[in-house]
Amino acid sequence: MDKVVALCKRRGFVFPASEIYGGIANTYDYGHYGVLLKQNVIGQWWKSMIQERDDIVALDSAIIQHPRTWEASGHLAGFTDPLVDCRTCKLRFRADHLDQAACGRRPSKLAGQTPECDLTDPRDFNLMFETSIGAVKGEGSAVFLRPETAQGIFLDFKTVLSFARRKPPFGIAQVGKSFRNEITPGNFIFRTLEFEQMEMEFFVPPDQAGHWYEHWLAERMSWYERLGLRRDHLRLRAHDPDELSHYSSATSDVEYLFPIGWSELEGIADRGNFDLTQHAEHSGQKLEYVDGPSGERYLPHVIEPAAGVGRSMLAFLCDAYDEDELGGDQRTVLRLHPVLAPVKVAVLPLVNKDGQPELAREIYEELRRHVPAEFDSGGSIGKRYRRQDEIGTPWGVTVDHQTLEDGTVTLRDRDSLEQARVPRGELRDEIARRLAAPWRSPKLT
Ligand code: ATP
Repeated sequence: MDKVVALCKRRGFVFPASEIYGGIANTYDYGHYGVLLKQNVIGQWWKSMIQERDDIVALDSAIIQHPRTWEASGHLAGFTDPLVDCRTCKLRFRADHLDQAACGRRPSKLAGQTPECDLTDPRDFNLMFETSIGAVKGEGSAVFLRPETAQGIFLDFKTVLSFARRKPPFGIAQVGKSFRNEITPGNFIFRTLEFEQMEMEFFVPPDQAGHWYEHWLAERMSWYERLGLRRDHLRLRAHDPDELSHYSSATSDVEYLFPIGWSELEGIADRGNFDLTQHAEHSGQKLEYVDGPSGERYLPHVIEPAAGVGRSMLAFLCDAYDEDELGGDQRTVLRLHPVLAPVKVAVLPLVNKDGQPELAREIYEELRRHVPAEFDSGGSIGKRYRRQDEIGTPWGVTVDHQTLEDGTVTLRDRDSLEQARVPRGELRDEIARRLAAPWRSPKLT
């Protein structure tokens, strides 16, 4: 994990927020390549939800909703962690994570393990951030930053149904920021105070819930695999009955073998009709689906795959991180799936003279109209390739003296290191062909 964190900072993917003030707990900023990688993860999620099927529509609901939303959803009463305070070191710990919490005075010991530790009884602490609207702070103005994007989807269920020209089974998908006042150490971007979620609520006739739950388990596992995560680092873990949320009859987590151990990447839950029932009761509105021809009315059941953008990105980065040896030097390389890579192709003149930089720039200008590309002429060719390898660029185009003579360039592959001589005019098609081809992590043996 330390190596991934260091690479992210060195190459400007992700770094601590508010650093000039000493940072702020569990909060990170995304730099240039981090933004591009994050957008690619989100783009692939939308593609799988919207472009590759026709039973899901998109939504972007507000972050601040009516405060009664959280009464109805159960978050106000129940979205809590049990916390204990240490009266000696003044630190706060999750009561259910004491086996991972380092003592504030003697970090080699766990909280509560030394004679000086003086822990309070656990107290429930709500994870929602509260703020207020309007000029006057006081009664009636308290609102919450959403702790999940899902509730906005339930509030809009009837509205979306009225124009989406869909009937159950159909889904509503949303990507956006959520906020949780997490106090456990975050493990880089695994757990942060603000984070983006990719959530989809799939509304189904009650008797089809079991079928669609299985469908989404398989579909979501396959999505991570198609984007290159190694199968032996992925697993589905069904929740034990005592772990299930009160509203859920079945939940499974997609887990990834992070450097910190197997941890949740995404939760897939059968939420029954809990949310629509609650919002119908609290709002006084009818939220049933009425089937046109038969007149049948029912509250759909909901299957929800809920994933985190930052957490997926961390899994893709950890899975892609690799070191090998090249020409006697150690090379760090991100073996990202090409569709996720922030930059697809780098165009590099072999030497910074003899008209090569000018020609390379011309080729770069052509290519970047079609794919994210970079031009780099500073420093030795070896250094420039090291840089591209570290940001995961799958292909490099080198312009050399032969290019000036016969118009061919060298096309280098990040993983196999194969170099092919390609006519300049065929580059665009060749890169498009490689980008569309199935991809498999070279780290798989
Ligand atoms: P955890 O048990 O790790 O706190 P959770 O079960 O509370 O997660 P869900 O409410 O199911 O998480 O949220 C769905 C997804 O949102 C998670 O699988 C994760 O990818 C992401 N997520 C949740 N909380 C955070 C967070 N604080 N930081 C980053 N991502 C998060």
